[in-house]
Amino acid sequence: VESALRQAAALVRRSQYAVALVGAGLSAESGIPTYRGSGGVYERFGEPTIDGWELFVADPAEWWRQAIVHETSGSPFSQAIDRAAPNPGHYAMADLEHMGRLAHVITQNIDNLHAMAGSRRVTEIHGNRYKVRCIECGARERLETVSLDRLPPSCPVCGGLYKNDVVMFGEPIPRDALEECYRQTLAADLFLTIGTSAVVYPAADFPVLAKRRGAPLIEINPEATALSEIADVIIRAPAGVALPALVDLLLVP
Ligand code: NAD
Repeated sequence: VESALRQAAALVRRSQYAVALVGAGLSAESGIPTYRGSGGVYERFGEPTIDGWELFVADPAEWWRQAIVHETSGSPFSQAIDRAAPNPGHYAMADLEHMGRLAHVITQNIDNLHAMAGSRRVTEIHGNRYKVRCIECGARERLETVSLDRLPPSCPVCGGLYKNDVVMFGEPIPRDALEECYRQTLAADLFLTIGTSAVVYPAADFPVLAKRRGAPLIEINPEATALSEIADVIIRAPAGVALPALVDLLLVP
């Protein structure tokens, strides 16, 4: 791990435009369970079979009713997110951005912890749990400011349907977020994958695409992933340990 960290620091120093793809593993140390990986939600309870998007399309008002009931009864997963605070990994990513060493973060997480830690250049490809999004025009708003007196709520800009911003199984990735991800991926001259099993598409394509265009690939994950084979540097450590160590190495002149 020590020598991998030094190699990673050298690559970061040499890069002009580093981009990171983040998965649920970064938030594991904040107490939010991952889906995949050992101890993840899937290992314990199996993969979900429900198709949330189909339910929404079939009956948006009923979907919102169920979502509100689900929220007020508080599922263990949403409770874990609501209780969570950024961990040293999130803060280190914000530090890297402020040091001019990290140009952009593409996150698959919906937990808002990057923003809470101070990262500004973030694209949330799977949405944000605390926002709603118009499925017609794509406008987003904070969930807490939306009136849920009449269901389903609708967009004041275009009258389209509002749904929670979180991208559900079967739902297309919002176009603005997807385009930004490709823009960032194609601009990257160094690509980091952090705490992602890299099997959820299209996110899993970004590191492959960046690598094909010549960007070296750094993987930070305690376990092997689908990307390990093509990674140039692999840091087999928890993100909350590896990222602060990387920041420390970069601060040494
Ligand atoms: P994943 O759950 O499929 O994979 C998690 C990965 O993190 C695994 O490879 C695991 O080895 C690794 N990991 C575990 N602990 C780690 C640590 N301390 N440091 C670094 N890595 C660690 O996650 P995914 O690939 O992001 O895909 C699942 C999807 O589910 C996500 O795209 C996301 O939308 C959603 N999700 C979000 C959250 C969240 O917002 N925090 C949590 C779970 C799932």
